[in-house]
Amino acid sequence: MTKNIFILITLLSSGTYAQSDTSFVRLATLSTQFEYDMRYATSNNFLKEKVYSCGDCLLRKEVALALVEANSYFIKKGYRIKLFDCYRPLDVQKKMWVIMPDARYVADPSKGSVHNRGGAVDLTLTDQKGHELDMGTDFDHFGKEAHHAWEELPEAVLQNRQLLKKGMEQAGFKSIPTEWWHYNFQSSAGYPVSNFKVECKK
Ligand SMILES: [Zn+2]
Repeated sequence: MTKNIFILITLLSSGTYAQSDTSFVRLATLSTQFEYDMRYATSNNFLKEKVYSCGDCLLRKEVALALVEANSYFIKKGYRIKLFDCYRPLDVQKKMWVIMPDARYVADPSKGSVHNRGGAVDLTLTDQKGHELDMGTDFDHFGKEAHHAWEELPEAVLQNRQLLKKGMEQAGFKSIPTEWWHYNFQSSAGYPVSNFKVECKK
């Protein structure tokens, strides 16, 4: 009994387990099965400016592992995940807030977004030819048409959104009401806000 408690205390105090789960990881190092269109590494976004120097997707490790699990679900059905955004430095959040100070669409930087914590992803699905499924609006469409509750859309679009939601929820992600493309990992609120820049490895 005493020995077991000692082992438990050693494990907890070493922090190895917690660290390996919450440290940042490049998604591409865990799987090559994802598609990418990291919009903030291009000028094709609502800021109309390239604000990331690198388009790599970084996430907390447990979030990245859950995303790999979600992608396996979609791959079995003939689809795969395409990412628009992952970890986002706090300085970029501040820029977004200046342009779109509406907390339904952009998290207030004074609180920090789940993207700043490495626990959120913006994504869609592609078919086997790499074409994006029709989700009714583009990524970062700030309007009611992008809301989950908006049903004035073709049946195929509603089904595509449902498919994305089902696969993400099974892997431990939660949707938000206003953006069909955004998912938070279940336990991400506890991660600290980060502000390091992502540099591509040369
Ligand atoms: Zn998002």
